[in-house]
Amino acid sequence: MLSFEKALDTVLNSARPLGAERVSLADAANRVLAEDVKSDMDIPPFNKSAMDGYACRRSDLANDLEVIEIIPAGYTPAKSVGPGQCAKIMTGAVVPEGADCVVMKEYVETRNSILDARCSRESRNQHRASRIRFVGEKTKDNICQKGEDIKAGDIVLRKGELLKPQHIAVLASVGHARPIVSKAPRVGIIATGSELVDPGTVPEPCQIRNSNSFQLAAQAGSLGAAVTDYGITKDTKEAIDNMFKKVAAANDVVIVSGGVSVGDFDFVPDILKRNNIDLLFEGIAVKPGKPSVFGVSEDLYCFGLPGNPMSTFVQFEILIKPFLYKLMGCEHKHENVRMPLNESVERRKTGRQVWFPVAITEAGTVELVEYHGSAHISSLCAADGLISIDVGVGRIEKGTVVPVRLI
Ligand code: AMP
Ligand code: MG
Repeated sequence: MLSFEKALDTVLNSARPLGAERVSLADAANRVLAEDVKSDMDIPPFNKSAMDGYACRRSDLANDLEVIEIIPAGYTPAKSVGPGQCAKIMTGAVVPEGADCVVMKEYVETRNSILDARCSRESRNQHRASRIRFVGEKTKDNICQKGEDIKAGDIVLRKGELLKPQHIAVLASVGHARPIVSKAPRVGIIATGSELVDPGTVPEPCQIRNSNSFQLAAQAGSLGAAVTDYGITKDTKEAIDNMFKKVAAANDVVIVSGGVSVGDFDFVPDILKRNNIDLLFEGIAVKPGKPSVFGVSEDLYCFGLPGNPMSTFVQFEILIKPFLYKLMGCEHKHENVRMPLNESVERRKTGRQVWFPVAITEAGTVELVEYHGSAHISSLCAADGLISIDVGVGRIEKGTVVPVRLI
């Protein structure tokens, strides 16, 4: 049977980028940048005070200083600071010519009171002459120098960057209000199973609630995909065929849960073939998720996953997630942390790569969580991540440092 590595290669090699579009910054989170972005200006754009205090000359720190001006943020200083002088300055304001440091307000004694700062130029410069003295031991400059963070023309973000909140702040700062990002893959989700009912329904004794659609939609949605949940389809060839045709016509990627194994009513692989989907694999040497299938046509990608919730969850994480990122033009790296196992792990059959849920302890070790197999939906809620054991490996000793894939 196909190794998981080969299955992942097959899936990734099939993924063709989807094209790009402009979005507003409000819609840019979780999208992948499709252009290099340069800064249109120095940041900070001027020498900026990092403190509320007094801008003066370092060589004057031992002297009484005359306060010649009050400089709020958002105003241009009217005067330059000469010897024996200072300007009262607010955080974020332009440091005036002549000053080379800002002493913090907290380390200054006022010799006579200064009028309150007011924000109109006339009033703020009409204050009574007053004097201050620095009473601290020493001071930093407390000036953010023009261009010290970013220079005009610098490439600040590169094509392929997955936009997190911190990247969006940079885009805003450099005036890139409508970045070009990869198109969001349209992902359609079908849950097959005649035993399934919606979560808002009380199941009959022979039924269970559909959880996979909601789980898969949440997983794909969190990556920035444009997800449509097509609900439940009964296990008949006709129902699956009709639903598949509808979903295929409106999406780039179809994820079908259930109906891919060897049961009498597992029709999904046949229906895919009948709809001219070229199945590139049927089955992977991996647990959970062995019967997973993947196929392509000219303009569609199809995943069929076995219906057990752990199978759909794990297969999405390890196979579909990197695929969707590749469609969006991003070389995704899994979030792995490496930590020692706090107990040995053993298994008898070693023919498949196996994945199971683990928790990270406060001591920074990896602990197995209770897990009864691929139907055990609630075990993931106690887990921080997944670990794997490779094909051919029967035991991992306590204390071995293993990569934990965070979920
Ligand atoms: P299947 O892959 O269709 O043979 O289903 C395997 C197991 O997963 C069965 O016990 C199903 O009842 C269960 N199952 C299938 N689809 C879902 C679903 N959408 N939500 C929760 N469990 C499911
Ligand atoms: Mg089924």
